[in-house]
Amino acid sequence: TTVLGIETSCDETAAAVVKDGTKILSNVVASQIKSHKRFGGVVPEVASRHHVEQFTLVCEKAMEDAKVDWKDLDAIAVTQGPGLVGALLIGVNGAKALSFAYDLPLVPVHHITGHIYANRLSGDMKFPLIALIVSGGHTELIYMKEHGSYEIIGQTRDDAAGEAFDKVARTIGLPYPGGPEIDKLANIGEPTIDFPRAWLEPDSYDFSFSGLKSAVINTVHNAEQRGEELNKADIAASFRESVVDVLVTKTIKAAKNYHVKQILVAGGVAANQGLRERMASACAKEGIPLSIPPLALCTDNAAMIAAAGTIGYLKGHRADMSLNGKPGLNIEDF
Ligand code: ATP
Ligand code: MG
Ligand code: FE
Repeated sequence: TTVLGIETSCDETAAAVVKDGTKILSNVVASQIKSHKRFGGVVPEVASRHHVEQFTLVCEKAMEDAKVDWKDLDAIAVTQGPGLVGALLIGVNGAKALSFAYDLPLVPVHHITGHIYANRLSGDMKFPLIALIVSGGHTELIYMKEHGSYEIIGQTRDDAAGEAFDKVARTIGLPYPGGPEIDKLANIGEPTIDFPRAWLEPDSYDFSFSGLKSAVINTVHNAEQRGEELNKADIAASFRESVVDVLVTKTIKAAKNYHVKQILVAGGVAANQGLRERMASACAKEGIPLSIPPLALCTDNAAMIAAAGTIGYLKGHRADMSLNGKPGLNIEDF
């Protein structure tokens, strides 16, 4: 099975060809970070315009790099949601045009299932499993009993993990996107500040990061008011420690209670060095196999959409020419 994946849900225009849901034949990502940097975040109109400009180039390059012809493809998979509506529409409409022109089945993909299936491009998925999704817009614990089956057992009640990283980065004057910047700074700092951890109710798998975010902002403002010098590296290290502590503890607890065969981590924040290390040592200690994608497959890309789309294709999921982008697409109905 050879699938062309297309991803335009946020600020990367991406296309990739994947064989059997496991082997990357090509993986093209046109990032817009430079254009959004001066605004300190993603500007939807700017994102849509970039997608329009890049779409055809990126798809052609993905086909060229993969050295496949359109007739070698079995399907085209496209991110239907969640994401920015204007951005999603460019990918969905482009995919519809290609599907019509080359007479190929069109498979709708939920963006977060893509993040999950990035793991299948670097190893096996062993069911049942618990997936920790940590991205720019999502923080969720998902139970999967088999391919294509998703049960949300916990989620954030306010900010997503990536969002918290980005906001804290802005507070201490780091450029967008702040997650990788905080991560680098945390590597050279010490977690000297005891920031709060939101454990919530004892049996809850939900998360909350807004209190932590406020605590960091207060610490920074208080220091500024007193004219004290900020140790940004220690703040970054303390913040990362607090986020990672809660993420790892709740994921391990869920994995034990659900008797899973694997823990899987997915989404942009899965690139975080602190999270990768702490999760690896916790899983080793508990004897639970762990899967985290290589760095380049953690953030948005289309190989992951093709990988998830391959499962959808084999399950018979199809879209027709009425397919529309859906910003609030729910993974459990998917
Ligand atoms: P979603 O997938 O929820 O729709 P998205 O696609 O915008 O959101 P991703 O591309 O999955 O998000 O991830 C981007 C997020 O990951 C950003 O918030 C970014 O700051 C964060 N991120 C990337 N690398 C790191 C890192 N090393 N440490 C912490 N956060 C990181
Ligand atoms: Mg992005
Ligand atoms: Fe994403």
